Amino acid sequence: MKPFTVKTNARFEMIDITGQVAAEVRQSGIRDGICHVFVPHTTAAVTINENADPDVPRDILAALDRIVPYAGPYRHTEGNAAAHIKASLFGVCQAVFVEEGRLVLGTWQSLFFCEFDGPRTRKVLVKVSAG
Ligand code: ZN
Repeated sequence: MKPFTVKTNARFEMIDITGQVAAEVRQSGIRDGICHVFVPHTTAAVTINENADPDVPRDILAALDRIVPYAGPYRHTEGNAAAHIKASLFGVCQAVFVEEGRLVLGTWQSLFFCEFDGPRTRKVLVKVSAG
């Protein structure tokens, strides 16, 4: 298991990482099992949602910003409290079944890396277990 890198370009961003994760699954050689995707960060997350319409991730980010406003007030003095809260709301891991060497995702589903305190260079860990 080796991490791959995601370079983010904005403070808030959802980046489709389905292709990179699928490549890790292929490289694992495992045909049937479970693929775990883990983001080792406290102000980023991973989620599964639609990427057919790019307005879906835009709406998600805009709604999140209304629910958890950037400006606070918050106690955390680093200035990124909202990013920590958003990361915990979405979570840092996802599990996807693998069948015949492919991720089992719904027609409209994509795996998104969620940046809440960018731009930064981030890591994503992928582990595929047979079974
Ligand atoms: Zn912080």
